[in-house]
Parts: sequence; C-alpha cells; structure tokens
Amino acid sequence: MTRIGAAGHRILIVDDNEAIHHDLRKILAPSTRLEQTMDEEEEILFGSRAPQVSQFEIGSAFQGQEALAMLRKAVREARPYSLAFVDVRMPPGWDGVETTRRLWEVDPHLQVVLCTAYTDYSWNEILEQLGESHNFVILKKPFETIEVTQLAHALTSKREAMECARAHTFELETEVHQRRQTERDLVTALDAAEEANRCKRDFLSNMSHEFRTPLNAILGYVDMIAEDARHSSAAASLMPMLDKVQLAGRHLLELINDILDMSRIESGRMNLQPSRICVETIAREAVALATPLAAKRGNSLTFHQDPAASWIEADETRFRQCLLNLLGNACKFTSSGVVSLDVRKFSSPDKDWIDWTVRDTGIGIAPHQIPRLFQPFNQVDSAITRKYGGTGLGLAISQRLCSMMGGAISVESRLGEGSAFTIRIPASPSSKEPSHVRT
Ligand code: ADP
Repeated sequence: MTRIGAAGHRILIVDDNEAIHHDLRKILAPSTRLEQTMDEEEEILFGSRAPQVSQFEIGSAFQGQEALAMLRKAVREARPYSLAFVDVRMPPGWDGVETTRRLWEVDPHLQVVLCTAYTDYSWNEILEQLGESHNFVILKKPFETIEVTQLAHALTSKREAMECARAHTFELETEVHQRRQTERDLVTALDAAEEANRCKRDFLSNMSHEFRTPLNAILGYVDMIAEDARHSSAAASLMPMLDKVQLAGRHLLELINDILDMSRIESGRMNLQPSRICVETIAREAVALATPLAAKRGNSLTFHQDPAASWIEADETRFRQCLLNLLGNACKFTSSGVVSLDVRKFSSPDKDWIDWTVRDTGIGIAPHQIPRLFQPFNQVDSAITRKYGGTGLGLAISQRLCSMMGGAISVESRLGEGSAFTIRIPASPSSKEPSHVRT
C-alpha cells in the first residue's frame, strides 16, 4: 500500500451536494471501515489499490456562510484550515467565488480549489472577481481521484512552506529589530560614556588648575622658610621636617601636572610648538638632570650618540619631558646597575628618524604587563608602586606626546634583567641651519 504526503492538515469541503462530500472524503480521509473494506475488495479485484493519502482532517460545510463560520472558529482556535475545496454553484447562498472572497478576508493564505463545471464562470470572470492570486486553482468537474489527491498534497505542502517562510521572515525581522534596538542602546550608552568622560576630563583639568596655584604658593613659602632655617642654628632642628614637606609638595605638584597634561591631551587642548632641536644639547642636558637620580640608587649613567644623529623636529619642552620620564623610570627601577642613553639615526625608505634608547639593568617587566604600560593610571604591579612610588601616567603621557610629534615609544624588557625603552622621533635634515642651538 502506498501512502502519500503528510498528515495533520485540515481541509474544508464547501459544497451543497452531499455526494461530493462523500467522494472527496473517500479520497482524502479513507480511514473508515467501509472504505477500508472497499479498498481491500478493489485489491482482490484489480490486484492493486489506489494510492492512499495520509489522513487529512476534513471539515464539511454546505453553504458559503457556514464555511465562513467554520473558518473563523478554526482561526480563533489557532487550528486553521490549509485548503478548501469550494464548489462554484451553491444555491441559495453565496456562490463559490463570493465564498472564496469572504474566506480570504479571514485567512488570506487559505489555499482554494474552485470546483466548477463548464457552464459556470469563465476564467476571466473568476480572475476579475478574485484578482490575481497564487492561492487558488480551478478544478473542472467531473474530477479524477488522482487530481484531487495531488492538488491536496501540493497545496497543503505549499501552505506549509509559506508558513515556514513567514515564520522565518518574522524571526529575521524580530532579530533585525532587536539588533537595531541594541545598536540604538549602544549609541546611547556610548554618548553617555563620552559625556561622562568629558565631564571627568573637565573636572580633572579645572581641579588640577585650582590645586596648582595654592600648591605653588605653599612650595614657594616652604622653600623660603627652609632657606632661612638652613642659616639659623636655632631652626636647624626644623630642617628634616621642612625637607619632608618639600618632598611631599613636589610629588603632589608632579601628580597634578601629569593629570593636567593627560586631560589636555585627551581633550585635544595640548598645543605643541615643533622646532628644530640639537640632539646633543638636549641629550646632555637630560643626562645631567638624571645623574643625581641615578646616583641615588647607586647606578652609573652612560651616554652615547651616533654622530649622524644630529637634529630632530619636535616640541622641545615636551620632548624633554618624555626623555626625562624614561631616564627617571630607568633610574628608579634599577639599583646598583647601569642606565644608558643611546642616540642613533634610523633611516626608513621614506624618512629619517632619531632613536633615543634608554636601557637599564633593573627589575624588568613581565611580558603580560607590557601591553598595559602605556594605559593611563596603569601601574603594572601594585607591590612595585608601593615600593617605588609614581603616578602611572608618565608613559601614557609620553607615548601620546611622541605620537603628536610624529613618533612613538617602543619597549623591550625581560623580567629581572632590565628594560629598553626607545623614543623614535622624526629627524630634521642636518644640512639646514639650526633654528636655535644652546651652548
Ligand atoms: P610611574 O609614574 O608609576 O612610574 P609610568 O607610566 O612612568 O608611571 O610607568 C608605569 C609603570 O611601568 C611603572 O609603575 C612600572 O611598573 C613600569 N615601568 C616603567 N619603566 C620601567 C622600567 N624602566 N623598568 C621597570 N618597570 C618600568
């Protein structure tokens, strides 16, 4: 026995002729005892049976109005009919075309087979009334069993495919909608974060400015008192305390200056004035300033300059700040070791650069900490910070300043062996006359 197609679809038969209901039911839901017996007899007589369809659930209406009521109920119960076989002539009520029109008002996706005899409506008349629709076919009476079977299967499968496609489209639309909402939420969150960041920058910038003025006054007066105390034997006992006040005040001033610099850079208010700077002059000056720091921890400080490295193009004050930061760190994180400054020319195909490498034999940096070095307020190890002090802003500021001057800072380090930080900054052609040379 051949079984065809899928079960579970509901089919509505709309016809005023009871015999048609019987015939169609026999084809579409041949499960009653009588039909089974007839099938068996057919097999005995002809040696084979007609192909069997899977069970469709059949509803019967004898007039258009009744069909409409049944469809409404089915839709309400969320058990809609997939297909309706609708007779064209059904006196005294609506004809099949009118019935189809009404059924589609309730379920526009209902598949319809209009069953018609030759004398009924012409093709054009039907099309005129129902419009161009791919949801109906016309079946001319008298029909063959196989025609009904095939139509039932083709049209219920079509309905199922359409429903799957609609459900999929709905899912996609929901997803698109959710994504758009998420995008909108992200934009709002980003705006809020940017606004908060701007407020933070402004606050830090204003407060740093406000702190700096009184602190400078305090430091100025402490310097004067310390100077007097140094020359007075009566006040000599005050000196250790005054030294501590000076130290703490200078540290605070450094921190405030760093915060001010960082907020200026982040808000785009850091203005640089590039000029042509003599490498040797600025290098020697920086080494001289770093010498006491190196000595404090028993380090030796060496300097080497490649003669080809003679001029750079940079903002002098800011470049000095960057170089001193590297030298200061190298001296701070090295004890009884060697700190060196090595200045060399580096030529890439399109440009000449000057590399300023500050090398030390200090504590070094673990590989996983290197990517965080240039993030603001990032001290890679809190135990190190407690031991050595610092703000965690120096490298972040230096990296940003060097980038604004057309260069960058890179780092190589081995934990326990030492570090090498290199500032690469654009060289200025040495043939030009220097704009200013210090002696
Ligand atoms: P800080 O003011 O804390 O030194 P920096 O931005 O200059 O801030 O440095 C950030 C961190 O990078 C330091 O706290 C330190 O852990 C690490 N660091 C920087 N330079 C060196 C160095 N030469 N040797 C070892 N660690 C270093």
